[in-house]
Formats: sequence, structure tokens, C-alpha cells
Amino acid sequence: MADFNKFGRHLMAGKSKKAAKVDEHGTLIVAPPKTASNKEHLQRLNYLFHLSTFHTIANDQDENNALARMYAKNLDLIQKKTKSSLTPGLKRRLCKTCQRTLIPNKTMSPRVINESKRKKPVNRVLVLDCVCGRSKRFPIGKNPSYKAHAEKGSNLTFFQK
Ligand SMILES: [Zn+2]
Repeated sequence: MADFNKFGRHLMAGKSKKAAKVDEHGTLIVAPPKTASNKEHLQRLNYLFHLSTFHTIANDQDENNALARMYAKNLDLIQKKTKSSLTPGLKRRLCKTCQRTLIPNKTMSPRVINESKRKKPVNRVLVLDCVCGRSKRFPIGKNPSYKAHAEKGSNLTFFQK
């Protein structure tokens, strides 16, 4: 037992020298990459998403949103071909079935439902109904201030020496 304690103390002493920097939320702070390896792909994906959003909002004559959906389809294909990952915020704004950009009261209708028997606020679900019939569901009752890993501001802070 005494040997174990000594060994354990030795390990702890070794770890404390190379202690990783962790912020108050428990997020590991690492240096940001100096360059993005697939910068062109990311720029292209970003541009296609903005084009799709713009044409969905601005073009009232086309009910099928053909041009906007084509841009979003291109975005999806390029993302798969280049194996780039999209942020959760961007993925939430695209319909996987019809490739429409989800704009409230234009291509999507949001509503909050509670299917539990006691109607506790914890069980509230945000449902986004696309005009194609597909719906996205987000449980918002448990943690209303939930943010995905990429959306947390502390992850974008620069490493300070
Ligand atoms: Zn849809």
C-alpha cells in the first residue's frame, strides 16, 4: 500500500509538470491552427450556403426554390466529396430531404410541442417543419442555454503563453 502511494504520488508529480491548460468550463485550451488545410473548400461551402440563403429569401417567384436548392445540393456534394465538416448551426438550417434552406415562415414553420402527459417544461421540443414534410426536432426543455462544441465562445480563444 505504501509503495502504491509512493508510485501514485510520483505519477501525480509527473502530471503536474505537463498539466494541460483548461478553462473554467473544462474545455482543453490548445493553440489554434495557423492555416486551414482545406481553406478553399470551406470558402466554397460558405459561399454556396450564403447563395442558397439569399436566393431563398429574395426569389419570391419560384415556389420550388430550384436555384437555391441546387446551390444547397452542390454544398452537400462538395462537403461529402472533400470530407469537410459543417458546423451544427449550418446543418440545422438545411433540410436533408429537399435541400432547402430553412427560413422561418418562408420554407419552414417552427413550433414548440410538449408530448409528455404532465406537460413539464423539461419535455419541450422545438419542431421545425419544412415545406416538403420533413421535420427536425430539437429537445430544448432540458438545457435551454445548450450550445454545441463549435458554438462555445471559449473554444475560439487564442492560446496565451
Ligand atoms: Zn425539406
